[in-house]
Formats: sequence, C-alpha cells, structure tokens
Amino acid sequence: MSNKSGGSVVGRFAPSPTGALHTGSLVAAVGSYLMAKQRGGRWLLRVDDLDANRQVPGMADDIMRALELFGLLWDGEVAYQSRHREEYLHYFELLQQAGMLYTCGCSRKEIARSASAPHQEDDAIPYSGRCRGGINAATAVIRSWRVRVPDEEISFLDLRRGTVCQKLSTVSGDFILRRGDGEFAYQLAVVVDDYLAGVNQVVRGEDLLSSTPRQIYLQRLLSLPRPDYCHLPLVTGSDGAKLSKRDNLLSHQLGTISGREPALLLAVLSFLGLNPPNELTGSSCHTILQWGVSHFSPPLLPVRGGSISTASTEWLKMSV
Ligand code: GLU
Repeated sequence: MSNKSGGSVVGRFAPSPTGALHTGSLVAAVGSYLMAKQRGGRWLLRVDDLDANRQVPGMADDIMRALELFGLLWDGEVAYQSRHREEYLHYFELLQQAGMLYTCGCSRKEIARSASAPHQEDDAIPYSGRCRGGINAATAVIRSWRVRVPDEEISFLDLRRGTVCQKLSTVSGDFILRRGDGEFAYQLAVVVDDYLAGVNQVVRGEDLLSSTPRQIYLQRLLSLPRPDYCHLPLVTGSDGAKLSKRDNLLSHQLGTISGREPALLLAVLSFLGLNPPNELTGSSCHTILQWGVSHFSPPLLPVRGGSISTASTEWLKMSV
C-alpha cells in the first residue's frame, strides 16, 4: 500500500471502542471534521480496536450511529486497526532490521496498556533502559520489544499550542512497539495507519500531545511524512476535573442524544472558540456544521479547556 493523500487534506477521527462517544470525543470528532472539510479535504473514520481487553462489544457501532446523528459523515470505508496487523508487522520488521529494537523482560503494567492510546499520567516514569544491553534469552520471558530513543529533543509545531519540544529519553524512554504476546502498540499502529490512509492532518485531544513526539520519531525512523498536528483543549467536568468517560455519554443505543444533537453541536462550536449566531439555534446539524466549516480557525481555539455546559448536557447527565 502507498500513501494516497496526493496533495489534498486528509483528516481523521480515530475513536477506541472502549465506551460510547462522550462530549470529549465529540469535540475531537467535530474539530477534526471542521478542519479537514474547511480545506475541501476528506475526513476518515478509523476504529482503534487493537486493545481487545478494553473493548466493549457493540461500541464501535454505537459510536458510528452517534456520529451519523450529529451529521458527522465520514468519507470512504471505516478502517479497523485489528485488520492491519500484517502492515504493522512489515514496519516493525523494518525497524528490527535497522537494529533499532530490542527485547525486554520488564514491566507488566506498561505492557498491559501499550496497545491503547496512553494518557498524560502514563508518562510519569520513563523506561530505565534496563534491557538495552540484552536480556538473558535462556531465562527471561520476552515481555515486549522496545525502540531505542536518542538523547535529543524532538520538536514540532502544533497548530494550537505552537512549538512543542520533548526529549523522549526523559518522558517515555525506549518505548514499547510490540508486546510479548505479539500485539502491536498504539504508537506504531497509529503511525502506520495514518501513513497508509494518506492522513496528513491529525486533530485530536490534548491528552495525546505527549505521544506525538514518539510518533514523529517513528515517522523519522521509517522515512514517513509528518502530518500537521492540532491538539484540541480537553473537556473537563464543571469543577475542572478530568471528564470521566461515564459522564456525558452520547450513546445511540441508550438514546441519550436524540433531539439534542443541534444544541450539543452549538455547544461544541463555542467550546472550540467560535461564536455561533443566535439564528443557528433550531437549525439542523448539517447547517450548523456548514457554519462551523466556514468559521473554524485554529488561532481561535482556547488555550485552556473547560466544561461544556449547556442545558442539554445537564439533561444528558441526569438521563444516564
Ligand atoms: N484511539 C485513540 C483514543 O481514542 C486516539 C488515537 C489518535 O487520535 O491518534 O484515544
């Protein structure tokens, strides 16, 4: 497969089917949709379903039905990470042949979470490099394959946050690309998938900002093009605390959105720094999204996240 972007913008939304859509993921869906469509681009949908242990049956479909209710219609076929293991293996072997990987016998906890997207707090302790010099193949269990990282800063321009610099050696250390059970890690999967789908614009929540330097590093090792990045502010509860995935569920199955879609979309546009006019109240999702497409602008995105407070989200909370 080759990269198919051919010069035009290709954005994407890549939910993990670990739960229903919620207001935080709706922000990522809307932000990535508006930014791709604004440049006449395509907006792809990928289900990040590598982490079998955390998946909830039926959630991928529930997310898709919810997106449809909001008028967020993706282009082309839905992609599923679980169907791309051969592609991941190909790029994994390229890195192996280049001598960039080593086997590791450490840290069950880190390995357990490596297939899914990490969150900021996961980066608290970088890997010490204990197995860099090799593990004793006769006695040790191979728990993962790690990629060697250099002692240098990776920097990139985020369209909202400006220049972001990170030294991988002090944040993640040598990070996991594959687990001992053969499953590939999120960091490798996302880089390969975005490349193969021709994605050249990655718009997602700020909780993934600290993963981006790892992904840029892998793109560099594999000589893959770097997409543009824009990390959106995070939605929090009204008290400023992290939004739990159980709060503000936007589930088709549970019926927690019906009739509220336009109001929620307007709330999301305001959250993204736009000022939708009163005349849009009562309009269809299509009309609201069209207005968003012509007004969205990364410089308007707020520096800080916060809560999305509308009567409709209060209603959602009460009904689930
Ligand atoms: N699947 C990831 C998540 O739901 C997002 C991956 C990405 O946008 O790169 O957290």
